[in-house]
Amino acid sequence: MNDEVAKLRARAEKDGVEFYFALFVDMHGKPCAKMIPVESTDVLVEGEAGFAGFAAGPMGHTPADGDLIAIPDLDTYTVLPWKRTIAIVMCDIFVEGEPWPFCPRLILKDAIAKAKEKGFVFKTGAEAEYFLVNRLEGGGIEVADPLDRAASPCYDVKALTRMYDVLSELSKYMNELGWGNYANDHEDANGQFEQNFEFADALTTADRLIFFRYMVHMIAHDHGMAATFMPKPFSNLTGNGLHFHSSFWDATTDKPLFSDDKDPRGMGMSALGYQYIAGLLAHARALVAVTCPTVNSYKRMGVGPPTSGATWAPAYASYGGNNRTQMLRIPSGGGRVENRGADGSANPYLAMAAQLVAGLDGIERNLDPGEPNVDNLFTLSEEAIAAKGIPQMPRTLLEAADALRADEVMRQGLGTTRDGYYADYFADIKTEEFMSYHRQVSHWEIDRYLTLF
Ligand code: GLU
Ligand code: MG
Repeated sequence: MNDEVAKLRARAEKDGVEFYFALFVDMHGKPCAKMIPVESTDVLVEGEAGFAGFAAGPMGHTPADGDLIAIPDLDTYTVLPWKRTIAIVMCDIFVEGEPWPFCPRLILKDAIAKAKEKGFVFKTGAEAEYFLVNRLEGGGIEVADPLDRAASPCYDVKALTRMYDVLSELSKYMNELGWGNYANDHEDANGQFEQNFEFADALTTADRLIFFRYMVHMIAHDHGMAATFMPKPFSNLTGNGLHFHSSFWDATTDKPLFSDDKDPRGMGMSALGYQYIAGLLAHARALVAVTCPTVNSYKRMGVGPPTSGATWAPAYASYGGNNRTQMLRIPSGGGRVENRGADGSANPYLAMAAQLVAGLDGIERNLDPGEPNVDNLFTLSEEAIAAKGIPQMPRTLLEAADALRADEVMRQGLGTTRDGYYADYFADIKTEEFMSYHRQVSHWEIDRYLTLF
């Protein structure tokens, strides 16, 4: 038995763990795992857990291809707080001994390494919003709490209290894992919640987001409900954002590089921070294909106000200060930027990699985002916004996929596979996803057209 195997097995046995879940995600961010008994720790550690890639999801594999091999990142060993006989271990995917360029976690690692070469450590925080719902006979859903019906439910203490058991259980688990859960609230839609944890280096945050979504689903099930992170589960309610906060830190001194209290624009951002912002804006229409990657994503963005009064989701590629109608918001004090153009369907590895590619391009080309936008972009007319030169976000997944395919920097930045650019593969999968949706004849069409002609 090699040292690593013996060490991990001893740790697992001490923790009372009986099984490992060797876990990786596909392009959609779907967590996939094999369950490996502790007695077979060598299978995990020595990279013998194989997967039929085509069955897992879009991983660049056909049914004729061999195995994807899960190589564990043993630093991610985490005992499930709600099921202590299981430990999950995040894995990177290799094929025939080589890193597999379709593996989202490796794509992020690659982007992080490129930033590091330039002396930057990429740190991120994320705000994962979700709904607690019940599934109905016939396929529909309803808000799980039947009393949660207020027209303005945001921060409603009574609705928060009714879900206390679920929220507090999740909060305690996050803190047990050392994530620093610091706030939990009822969000802007009925049945919608957000639970925040501290920012960290981008890979850690991405791993945590995958774990968080998994944990929320499992705990919701334990309480007889379903959780959903889909961007717009109800057409009349605010959707699920996954706002990302980014900052760069000095790779040698760990000093924050986006902070500057002498910022002439008075927002506490450094010149480097503004270049990063400019990069995100320059590539916004392509970036959003990755940060808002589903058909449903575009029902969250750029639609009329839901019943609460605002979508809180951007329709335009703009930046501003503490102004939630902009795609990019610099929170008070600066030092970081929030990307609100990201939703609950994003694969966190790919979304962070894509932001890094766009932001680094802004830095490399010394771009300037111009003056911050101070308007309420939810009420300003489309003409007035166009006159300011602010581009509109793509209106559908199809438009976004086309924008990604047309963006040379994003194509090169997300890496090359045996079939060409990963970005093109992503755009093709997303185009087909849109077309598969588009081929369905919906109720809307029957209502609109059946007897019109
Ligand atoms: N739920 C909103 C969204 O879809 C965000 C609300 C907020 O600012 O927290 O982005
Ligand atoms: Mg929120």
